[in-house]
Amino acid sequence: MSTDTKPSIEFADRLKALPPYLFVEIDRAKRAAVAEGRDVINLGIGDPDYPTPPHIVEAMQKSVTNGDYHHYALDAGLPDLRVEIQRWFKDRFHVELDPDGEIYPLIGTKEGIAHLPLGVINPGDKVLLTDPAYPAYRPTIQFAGGKIINITLKEENGWLPELAELKCHTDAKMLVLNYPNNPTSAVATREFYAELVAFAREHNIIILSDMAYSEVYFDGNPPISIFEIEGAKDVAIEFHSLSKTYYMTGWRIGWACGNRTLVAALAKVKSNYDSGIFTAIQVAGIAALKSDPSVTDDMRRLYQERRDCLIEGLAGLGWDITPPQAAFYVWARLPKGFTDSMTCAKTFLDKADIVATPGNGFGPGGEGYIRMALTVEKDRLEQAVQRLKKVL
Ligand SMILES: *Cc1c(COP(=O)(O)O)cnc(C)c1O
Repeated sequence: MSTDTKPSIEFADRLKALPPYLFVEIDRAKRAAVAEGRDVINLGIGDPDYPTPPHIVEAMQKSVTNGDYHHYALDAGLPDLRVEIQRWFKDRFHVELDPDGEIYPLIGTKEGIAHLPLGVINPGDKVLLTDPAYPAYRPTIQFAGGKIINITLKEENGWLPELAELKCHTDAKMLVLNYPNNPTSAVATREFYAELVAFAREHNIIILSDMAYSEVYFDGNPPISIFEIEGAKDVAIEFHSLSKTYYMTGWRIGWACGNRTLVAALAKVKSNYDSGIFTAIQVAGIAALKSDPSVTDDMRRLYQERRDCLIEGLAGLGWDITPPQAAFYVWARLPKGFTDSMTCAKTFLDKADIVATPGNGFGPGGEGYIRMALTVEKDRLEQAVQRLKKVL
């Protein structure tokens, strides 16, 4: 049977309403360069370049053959995993969490962040979002019908939102924060969190804290959890991830913790979407959290060496950059002669075969900056500096 008109399938309005993907152009240019056989140094992606440590892989190898683990996992995850998260959190932040109700394992932090707004945001609710920000927050708030209010971050404020500006939005339902921050590498101070928690408690504002980089920090200064502030559990939910800490981005495991009602909202949304984390991966997650401290110490030393190598090399070319205190990104004001981040990124690629991420891809507030990930070996960073001689 033939018909004259072809059926036409269209994206839903909510999908059509998403902003265009700003990295398209640079992605295309990168693929073309690779296809031409050019030796591209990729400082564009924030994905650790090392494999997962062997003791974690071995824990997975052993548990993958266990038939008991081949069934649907419990939504809330293995009790042993939640207890291990509790122990880890107490060791690291000196904060007590109840494994029953204050900790919820996730199929990666991104999954939890994407699902939470569906559980707490009603259409029209105001959500305060920093600009620049990790691009994953915006679509999910839009899907939930939230009204996004951009809070512009500035270098002179250490890339922290100004409280005076937040106070113009006492009717907001939620505030999204991410420290250590991607892309700016900024770290939140205790004073900032204390003031923020007081403000959020007074005005009944939910704080979503994304702490995916909690263990990637430099110069011996561990960032704090928002729960180190008295009363934060009344308003906050914090997201943690094994991805960056233990080179496990592909495994998909993390957790949400904090306020019981927020955790319950997320759990209820998730129970309608997924059926938990493969149990063998949860067992591997337990092994990861029990790792010898040398695993994360070595990881920090590695990134710190790379950071120093790149920052010193670029300073030698007259490009002075404030060294990041955490996360594995160098967030740099554009070098002399450049005014927009996209042109800068394109020039780096065309003239030096280097992929870096233009700051405006993280929102208009990122314009004037470029992000370089420290996820390649030191000799490649040295090579990148050599190549940039031609450009700077
Ligand atoms: C990498 C990253 C995540 C994603 O973590 P997963 O646990 O792998 O989903 C979350 N937030 C930020 C800011 C990130 O850069």
